[in-house]
Amino acid sequence: MAEKIKCLIIGSGPAGYTAAIYAARANMSPVLYQGTEPGGQLTTTTDVENFPGYPKGISGPEMMIELQQQAERFGTDVRNGWITKVDFNNDLKLWVNDQDELICETVIIATGASAKYLGLPSEKKYLELGGGVSACAVCDGFFYKGQEVAIAGGGDSACEEAHYLSKLCKKVTMLVRRDEFRASKIMQERVKKTDNIEILYNTETKEILGDNSVVENVLVYNNKTGEEKTIPITGFFVAIGHTPNTEIFKPYVNMDETGYIINEPGTSRTNIPGVFVSGDAADHVYRQAVTAAGTGCIAALDAEKYLSSK
Ligand code: NDP
Repeated sequence: MAEKIKCLIIGSGPAGYTAAIYAARANMSPVLYQGTEPGGQLTTTTDVENFPGYPKGISGPEMMIELQQQAERFGTDVRNGWITKVDFNNDLKLWVNDQDELICETVIIATGASAKYLGLPSEKKYLELGGGVSACAVCDGFFYKGQEVAIAGGGDSACEEAHYLSKLCKKVTMLVRRDEFRASKIMQERVKKTDNIEILYNTETKEILGDNSVVENVLVYNNKTGEEKTIPITGFFVAIGHTPNTEIFKPYVNMDETGYIINEPGTSRTNIPGVFVSGDAADHVYRQAVTAAGTGCIAALDAEKYLSSK
């Protein structure tokens, strides 16, 4: 027997929990599935200092616990589990862990995006330790004020983040794996014109080195000559792209070629009536906790309006 749900929220980042707070307070009895990474991307960050309302900052995992508590306080049913399959042909049908069937009146997609990493064990180690690896310059750049950092990537994100970091840090070394950028000309020009940004082409990361607590150097190599070089840094940023977690919706929900869901401008509505989107699943530009929370609110309000009009 399928379970009937008035408002299903998929994802447990700031978008999902904010949607849950609003939906619960509007008596929509939301059920939220946390997914594979409860708390979302913020659980891989250390201190969050740019979310309004926390004058002293808060750790990412702590903030997500507080958001969950706030959503539960108004009656959100927060569940462990992963939505593995959907069928939006007639009703809004979804399956949890390939087993339990749900039939929903509204669905809010808040599945976010995952930063891509290089896949080095040392990268994982220092990321988990909060010791100097980050995939978000806007979130963590401030901690490296006056210091020397490196950033891997040659796309628009890497250029934008390198430029952002150059205003805070003493020196930024960009590690670009080809002999050219992927970024747009204007973004390339911006980094090339910045005095404290050094660009190393044909350069890849071999290992991030440190004292097992914090990052101290990065070992890089030239993929044309094989030459290796150690660069002293305290922060290593990765900006090699994000993957929106939207694969399961692909057959039904309109998305761009990279998988970001397309919403009707100014709303959270997708092409499927009753299905709304919030957070990074539809945003490859801003990607901030506060913007995700804002669109979570919009999605709950749009879902409420949709239910009342039915
Ligand atoms: P992109 O996919 O555009 O670029 C990724 C970059 O990382 C490329 O230079 C790529 O190299 C490199 N890379 C990928 N894998 C590795 C690896 N394993 N090791 C080293 N380098 C690697 O991602 P972005 O996040 O930069 O941009 C995503 C989208 O968002 C784009 O459409 C972009 O234009 C847009 N965007 C727009 C902005 C703006 O307009 N202000 C700001 C930020 C993003 P290679 O080129 O060799 O594949």
